[in-house]
Formats: sequence, C-alpha cells, structure tokens
Amino acid sequence: MKIRIPNKIKVGGHWIEIFYEKNLYDHHGKYGQSRFPENEIALQDRDMVNSRKSQTLIHELLHFVDFVYNNCNLEENTVNALATGIHALLVDLGVEFDFSEINYK
Ligand SMILES: [Zn+2]
Repeated sequence: MKIRIPNKIKVGGHWIEIFYEKNLYDHHGKYGQSRFPENEIALQDRDMVNSRKSQTLIHELLHFVDFVYNNCNLEENTVNALATGIHALLVDLGVEFDFSEINYK
C-alpha cells in the first residue's frame, strides 16, 4: 500500500513543512534535519533511496512529536531505535511512502 506524503504534516496543531535540501548531508552529515522554530523538516536530496528517505522522515517526525508532546526528553539513540522499528513494522505491513509531492524549497 502506497501512502502519499504531503508537503505539510500537522503535529500537535503545528503544520510542519517537508522539503528537499541539496547537500544537507555534506553540510550537516545528516539525511534529515528537524527545525523546530521554522516548523520544517529538510530531507537530503531527492535521489536518496526510498527506504532511507522513509526511515529518515519517520525519524524527523518523531523529533517533532517528542518536541510537542514530550518536552524533547528522547535521546537521539532512542529516536533512532524507534524510527528503525516503526519503519521495519510499516515495511513488513507492505506500506511504502510516495514522496512525489515533496520538492525543493
Ligand atoms: Zn535525530
């Protein structure tokens, strides 16, 4: 089952904008970056493979959920573990993310 990822996702009443950013990995050593003040999630370039992109999006969304509902109490390793687990669960259920609506900002 394909799930279309919209370019804005609401978390706790805040609209989070999702977009690609060129050279994010080169500049920050990251595949994704959550920016709380701007309500943004930047993803490494469009050519990142779909499974990596999906896990990265789950990871960054967990950061926003942690920020809004949990006072940023999750450690990075915990976010990594949860994102990996949720991604594997969705893949095993046959869920695939469709990023066709995501663009460069
Ligand atoms: Zn993180």
